[in-house]
Amino acid sequence: MPRPILARVDVNAMAHNLAIVRQNLREATVPGACIPLIWAVVKANAYGHGIENAVWGFAAADGLAMLDFEEAERCRAAGWQKPILMLEGAFEPADVLVASRLGLTLVLHDAHQLRLLSAAKVDRPLDIYLKLNTGMNRLGFGAANYAGIHHTLQGLQATGQVGQIVHMTHFACADQPDGIDEPLALFMGTVGDLPGDWSVANSAAILRHGVRLARAAGQTQVWVRPGICLYGAAPSAELPVHQQGFQQTMTLSSTLISVHPVAAGEGIGYGYLSRAARNGQVGVVACGYADGYPRHAPVGTPVTVRGCRVPLLGRVSMDMIVIDVSTLTGVAPGDEVILWGQGGPSVDEIAALAGTIGYELLAAVTARVPRQTNSLRP
Ligand SMILES: *Cc1c(COP(=O)(O)O)cnc(C)c1O
Repeated sequence: MPRPILARVDVNAMAHNLAIVRQNLREATVPGACIPLIWAVVKANAYGHGIENAVWGFAAADGLAMLDFEEAERCRAAGWQKPILMLEGAFEPADVLVASRLGLTLVLHDAHQLRLLSAAKVDRPLDIYLKLNTGMNRLGFGAANYAGIHHTLQGLQATGQVGQIVHMTHFACADQPDGIDEPLALFMGTVGDLPGDWSVANSAAILRHGVRLARAAGQTQVWVRPGICLYGAAPSAELPVHQQGFQQTMTLSSTLISVHPVAAGEGIGYGYLSRAARNGQVGVVACGYADGYPRHAPVGTPVTVRGCRVPLLGRVSMDMIVIDVSTLTGVAPGDEVILWGQGGPSVDEIAALAGTIGYELLAAVTARVPRQTNSLRP
């Protein structure tokens, strides 16, 4: 038997969250304009949920966006026939051929990828997302070069190398009230007159600026790229998602493997980071940082046992944490402990206490934690 730790993945909640995004976009769309289409972002093994679960949970999405070619292959193997967007594009020549074979859409963000693309002998045209750097200075062409690259791509369209060309950018500060003003102006100034759909907007941009983006796009078809909100976690502290009806999609749980008394003043765990304030009892949970529970979770971080929140004591170890169960009666080894998710503290709450973000905790759940899904797919 494996250890009792488990990441339960709720594919119904994933589908529900996608439907909320779809509804938000519908409401934001100007009458007569196209409703934005949705790439569900499933990078990093679907934010730790398992790529196959995402294929099922996001079955209603218009496409899946990721960056690992092996994950793309797994999506196709799991039956995903709709578009797949590779967010970092090709890394090496072979990737272009894989993209052609699997029918993947490639982001093009750097001149070296243009060389890979022109050199490849593809058997069908590749759809390309041409990325503009609107200030983040991560990926994308500068505005000065953009039209030139676009022109080159149009040449490759003529030779059957390239299919659709979509204009793409990524906003660095979309969680801020005025965070997309400058980058959106630059994007529109650069791509405004060129033919082609647009792809903008992560979760933060959709939640905070969806209406504005819809107005800006007018009659242009937009493809948005939500990630974190589809997993029921917040893109930033100012944009909590549970109030908008998003549901948590991953519940990390384990069980107590020991319950024992401690006397007032006794130390707990490595370095005696905690000492028992009074005579009481502690529980040991089969979950540690090697499972992806954050080592920086401080003393007092909540977990839920039998419906009650109780605090973490001492330092998080590799395979175990210790919790204070003095206030609970009848707890015993085998009792379920919810670390985060449905029925427990939210992943955002744990992340905030540990000085990180929900994204990191979800993506960092390690391979040794079994994923259990309520998907009915065989
Ligand atoms: C990760 C990512 C997204 C999704 O971001 P969230 O904040 O998780 O919604 C969208 N676009 C790009 C290019 C990304 O890398």
